[in-house]
Amino acid sequence: MTSPRERYDLVILGSGSTAFAAALHAAELGKSAVMAEFRTVGGTCANRGCLPSKNLIEAARLVYDAAHPRYPGLTPVHMPFSWAELVAQKDEIIQEYRAHKYESLLDDPDHMQVVPGQARLVSDHEVEIQSADGARRLIGEQILIATGSLPAIPHVPGLSDVPYLTSDLLSSADDPWGTELREQPRSLLILGGGSVALELGQMFARFGTQVTLVTRGKRILSGYEPEIAAALTDILQEEGLRIVTGAQVRGVERSGEGVALSLQRHGSQHTFTAEQLLVSTGRRPNIEALGLEQADVERDTAGAVRVDRTLRTNVFHIWAAGDVIGWETESQMATPVGAHDGKIAAHNALSGEPLREVDHTVIPRTIFTDPQVAVVGLTDEGAVAAGIACDCNTIPLSVVPRAGAIRDTRGVIKMVLDGPTRRVVGVSMLGVNAGEVIHEAAMALRFGATTDDFIDLIHVYPTMAEALKIVAISFTKDVNRLSCCAT
Ligand SMILES: Cc1cc2nc3c(=O)[nH]c(=O)nc-3n(C[C@H](O)[C@H](O)[C@H](O)COP(=O)(O)OP(=O)(O)OC[C@H]3O[C@@H](n4cnc5c(N)ncnc54)[C@H](O)[C@@H]3O)c2cc1C
Repeated sequence: MTSPRERYDLVILGSGSTAFAAALHAAELGKSAVMAEFRTVGGTCANRGCLPSKNLIEAARLVYDAAHPRYPGLTPVHMPFSWAELVAQKDEIIQEYRAHKYESLLDDPDHMQVVPGQARLVSDHEVEIQSADGARRLIGEQILIATGSLPAIPHVPGLSDVPYLTSDLLSSADDPWGTELREQPRSLLILGGGSVALELGQMFARFGTQVTLVTRGKRILSGYEPEIAAALTDILQEEGLRIVTGAQVRGVERSGEGVALSLQRHGSQHTFTAEQLLVSTGRRPNIEALGLEQADVERDTAGAVRVDRTLRTNVFHIWAAGDVIGWETESQMATPVGAHDGKIAAHNALSGEPLREVDHTVIPRTIFTDPQVAVVGLTDEGAVAAGIACDCNTIPLSVVPRAGAIRDTRGVIKMVLDGPTRRVVGVSMLGVNAGEVIHEAAMALRFGATTDDFIDLIHVYPTMAEALKIVAISFTKDVNRLSCCAT
């Protein structure tokens, strides 16, 4: 079959948040951009990641809080729910969001459109898109690779012979590639101890699924502050999650209607069974069948597309951004990072103006457990590794007036300073609304704030953000002896 060739200023592989940010900016510059997508328009975040998970996590919180009121005088109630209806409303929210934030932007095909099909580079300017309707070849003056990431599946003996779920389990029915979980499992084994494993583990447990979380590391949340990991472990265990750390997984096999996972821990063998298995051991850049070699595009040892700080690959007119660049340029896999960088890539590819560089030093992150984990900048260990003579303090949230007032003192906050200058280089918090509070810390890091800046800033009373002021004070004062408003 001969394939028609079409020319565009920018051909983008993928249609996630990274791709859309780039295409929108291309359109703003008066250029033509085309995205290729073989799954659902909008990518992982909108269709099977951030949005559906946060929707159901909040529903689970409502169910849990009704059964566990924190206030004497409020009577616990068992709130009946329909899993099928919850899934249906989640799909409705996704469809509305996708229509509003993605599909509605495709009303000017001269500047921005999505071509359905699997894309691969066939040369350094040419992308072939294969769909049920045949092949199409698009020629791009400039090309952007924004194909996101895929679940990283570890080698576990027997895994390929049993059915298992991945972080795709919340994809909706209209995604033909998705493996959506349409029935709530009675029991769930989760392999992994990172953000997605914890968010989904707590969510299912709160809906009544018996959850066992198995992780190789000595603790959950490797790479995060140990105080945060320890406090969150206690909270999750109190809610009924079984957390098995330091596990050497030996194999998995079918067991009755479900799966059995055998592992070794501290020299003894254990077997755990459950109706469903979720493999949530991280994500890897998606470079599968992209034809990178046809265009001589290099990747790094982690399999990510290699880029410089302008997001240019080793090929002059080919750029990459979002999850597909993995940890290149100290990037992180998160939607706002991809969206931010997608725009920079489009600017650099198309504007003809001086190149912009990415700055990934301040990336606030949140894990949407309850309470939330939120971090920005360096951990204690990271600061030491970076050669910073650091000073760190951790305080319990019980010293924060707001936490006491609303009877939710779960969690801690830790601040990491560059010792000699008192400049704050990292903050980690586990607590109510940590995902909101962390923005103050992020802005402070951006502008090089010191502990005095946090102390001198008048904070709204009583708010969880006062935790930042109080932990800053804790370097010089006993915070158990403060009066109102952290004075
Ligand atoms: C369960 C879960 C929860 C998450 N929660 C959050 C959160 O709360 N906050 C947050 O910031 N991040 C979250 N993330 C991460 C976030 O979803 C990703 O960082 C983000 O979607 C990356 O955007 P992207 O545009 O780079 O890639 P994607 O959104 O993955 O888009 C890439 C697109 O390219 C398409 N594609 C790939 N290869 C080809 C090809 N050859 N041809 C055509 N199309 C192709 C894919 O189908 C996909 O649609 C979560 C992820 C998961 C899995």
